[in-house]
Amino acid sequence: MMTEADIPSDTAPADMLVRQRVGFIASGAPPIEERLADLARLKKAILALRPQFEEAISADFGNRSRFETAIMEIMPVTQGIDYLRRHLRRWMRPQSRHVALQFRPARAQVMMQPLGVVGIVSPWNYPLALCLTPLATALAAGNRVMIKPSEYTPRTSALMARMLADIFPEDQVAIVIGGPDVGAAFSALPFDHLFFTGSTGIGKAIMRAASENLVPVTLELGGKSPAIVADDYSIPRAAKALVYGKLSNAGQTCVAPDYALVPEVKVEALASAYEAEVRRAYPQGLADKDYASLISQRHHDRLVGLIEDARVKGARIVQIGAKPDLGLPTTLAPTIVLGATPDMKIMQEEIFGPVLPVVAFRSVEDAIARINAGDRPLALYVFSNRQEVVDKVLTSTTSGSAVVNDTILQFAQDDLPFGGVGASGMGAYHGEEGFRTFSHAKGVFVQSRLSMAGMMRAPFGALADRVLRFIL
Ligand code: NAD
Repeated sequence: MMTEADIPSDTAPADMLVRQRVGFIASGAPPIEERLADLARLKKAILALRPQFEEAISADFGNRSRFETAIMEIMPVTQGIDYLRRHLRRWMRPQSRHVALQFRPARAQVMMQPLGVVGIVSPWNYPLALCLTPLATALAAGNRVMIKPSEYTPRTSALMARMLADIFPEDQVAIVIGGPDVGAAFSALPFDHLFFTGSTGIGKAIMRAASENLVPVTLELGGKSPAIVADDYSIPRAAKALVYGKLSNAGQTCVAPDYALVPEVKVEALASAYEAEVRRAYPQGLADKDYASLISQRHHDRLVGLIEDARVKGARIVQIGAKPDLGLPTTLAPTIVLGATPDMKIMQEEIFGPVLPVVAFRSVEDAIARINAGDRPLALYVFSNRQEVVDKVLTSTTSGSAVVNDTILQFAQDDLPFGGVGASGMGAYHGEEGFRTFSHAKGVFVQSRLSMAGMMRAPFGALADRVLRFIL
């Protein structure tokens, strides 16, 4: 666990917020050159510490492939920073807006302003990316930032804290270390914006706490993201994409396909193809160095509980390559659950692990109806080469994001908004949507010396009548 020495400051979070706010007000919105330099420094520092981050994250998990950390955390963060740097000038430029005839020749424009001090609360599953992408975006928009990372990844947090303390003054970027109590106190601070990534349950607590100070929130939550495999689509191809999305980081991915909806007659074929793909991708099974551990014993036990509940209620469980005596207590074999029914817990709560229920459907309409009967998911995956099927699924369901014929890659697209809808969250970030999330769009009206509007003020008379006749 983290020691006192790792904690960069003993300033209380409430005092730190005051310091940051005072600094922000004194200096005003940072000019673009400063923001570009901040982002460049951040990218350079991340790349310089790449091996240390890969090691720290692996140690925090028990085991996680350095490739997964490089591909799923360091790459999206650093490419995201490049994208922010490339487009920032354009996003920051004031936009001219339409002015109605009676107000001309005055001008109207939208001016993008930093919000001030942004709070970021982040989860453990991608401890680097889910902390540093919001940070980079908030800095690009000109804010100061306080971060509360997850208590489950102490080594990564310590390294991140040291890195950030090296490259930013504390009154610009500060890290607050701690668990749920610290998180609760942190989310009660009067930030200018609170950005939370985590579970739906804690998201509610965050929103409640923020509402006391009318702090606007972005909530990046979870949920059950379905994958629909239509009957025209190749089963081996679908299985390959499902294994990729489900077993990267051992399923501990917010946008992992939670369960698969498959035509009744293809359930067995998909299960076999999935099993074959798991054996190909992870030939050493549980001991494979590319197969991630689960973050904690509690998380492991929760997943085992979900599987057991499904087994007791009549589901068939297929565990792939399980060897229980490996001495890897927080690793769980890739598992398929066949015949899952709505009364099973595994079909009620977000799985967030390497377990895939494969559920039969009779028609695509049937699959759509099932999805629409539940909470709006964070992501939806549809596999079909028939445009009418894809269109039908995309237009008849509402999810935070969607992918056609693959899984999870929407997260890596800098130019797509990323966020949930309904129970899977509110607000979005990445690229331009991120810049807007962390900015205030201020409408500014600039009056001219001569204006027809002046003719429509008291004392009213013939002139006002003439203007009204003309306008209406
Ligand atoms: P979590 O909600 O348990 O914790 C997230 C953060 O909130 C941690 O920093 C934690 O310390 C803090 N926290 C805990 N209790 C708190 C409280 N009462 N008040 C304020 N803060 C508190 O989530 P987790 O287990 O770290 O992450 C897994 C969840 O996150 C899953 O549901 C997953 O789907 C979701 N997630 C969503 C996204 C996304 O982008 N939408 C990304 C990753 C994970």
